Amino acid sequence: MKVFVAGLDTETNTFAPIPTGYASFTDTFLAHGDATRQAPNYCSNQLLIWRTQAEARGWDVVESLCTYAEPGGRIVAAAYEALRDEILSDLGGAMPVDMVLIALHGATAADGYDDCEGDLLARIRAIVGPDAVVGAELDLHCHLTEAMLHSATVLVIYKEYPHTDIGDRAADLFALAADAVEGRTHPVMAMFDCRMIGAFRTTEQPARGFVDRMYALEGRDGILSVSLGHGFPWADVADVGVKTLVIADGDRAKAAHFAKTLGEEFFSMREALAAKFLTVDAAVDAALAIQGGPVVIADVADNPGGGAPGDSTFVLRRLLERRVQNVASGFYCDPMAVRFCQEAGVGARFPLRIGGKTSVQSGDPVDLVVTVRGLAENVTQRFGPSPAPMGDAVWVSAGSIDLVLITHRTQVFHPEGFAATGLDLSAKKIVVVKSSQHFHAGFAPIARAILYASAQGALSADFANIPYTKIARAWWPKVADPFAT
Ligand SMILES: [Zn+2]
Repeated sequence: MKVFVAGLDTETNTFAPIPTGYASFTDTFLAHGDATRQAPNYCSNQLLIWRTQAEARGWDVVESLCTYAEPGGRIVAAAYEALRDEILSDLGGAMPVDMVLIALHGATAADGYDDCEGDLLARIRAIVGPDAVVGAELDLHCHLTEAMLHSATVLVIYKEYPHTDIGDRAADLFALAADAVEGRTHPVMAMFDCRMIGAFRTTEQPARGFVDRMYALEGRDGILSVSLGHGFPWADVADVGVKTLVIADGDRAKAAHFAKTLGEEFFSMREALAAKFLTVDAAVDAALAIQGGPVVIADVADNPGGGAPGDSTFVLRRLLERRVQNVASGFYCDPMAVRFCQEAGVGARFPLRIGGKTSVQSGDPVDLVVTVRGLAENVTQRFGPSPAPMGDAVWVSAGSIDLVLITHRTQVFHPEGFAATGLDLSAKKIVVVKSSQHFHAGFAPIARAILYASAQGALSADFANIPYTKIARAWWPKVADPFAT
């Protein structure tokens, strides 16, 4: 057996004014066939799991490109085509192959391509022919499309948000693909469109119970795999939205029945499932009313992990206006401010203009007289088991507020990103993090409480009013019951 592995992953916010060019990939991670010989990251770890499992069976492995970029706007067409064509060229050179396993996102769009995964999987299928097994692992925030299902043999989606199960799902995908390539199973896929758009945290009920039911259904009664694509709301593409995906063994009607039944169950819980958000003031009031700390407040609207600029100042300005004491916040992507702090050195006190530079979604810059408290170069923070780059980082303080500024735009995953600059969060009353949910795994152990605030910014939680132009069907919450219209 010969297995071909590759990875191409970014989440595209088509409303974001941040171009995703080739350097967005090289700045984050890009390897031309040797990713599994480097320290694992959240994308390459999937390839490493597939390689390890294949080699344990004595199978040959051919490894191609592995890359991911911090979410932003659409990929520049030439950059997407260069990355795609490198994978296709390597695949052509590796033929004949029995199995292709690829780490994708499912919400990747480029200029001229609303469904990069559908495009890539179709081209892979055209090279390998109808009999090879083509498997892809997708992010939970994917837009499942008919084009993906048409070209892939098996698709497996992360089940957890925060995404703590990427490695487990990679192992699931390998097992599904291995059973298929050795003829033990004949996987067939079906999906169901729930006609919903929103954010759903699997750490909370009733989503938690739904995910647990998905696990329980797998491996019984001819059901091989059960997935739920939550969709990525900030994408103006025709296939945006929540979908269930079921893989059955040889029985397409059974797959379709389970996908519909589960999808209707998820839809029926839509009001209870929808993630709840506070206003900034309500979140601060709630945090101050809680005994002890730190109370972690998520600034969900400026989550770079959803393509937001990561330098918005709406929450910072409100914290300053309210003179909130003993508060820390991060990460503000501001390479110019970091550079000034590096030049000034630890202990320097000077006026610094912070944030508000990327676009109108960032608000206005905030001018503070800061003291440089800590500097660190090439910092990483854990996302699951893997280090994620932050670039250089600086800790500055102004009165009773501590801020961490960085040079590589990324969301907050873990307290160690703050600690790298010397900033200890444990004695803080409030910690404001630019993230929607991925911070949860790292911060839950130190947080007295976790609150979600929806400020002004790039990632509006007002899902009924995101200005889509390409959806052809009704969807909740724009319409109370889109199945009735
Ligand atoms: Zn995701």
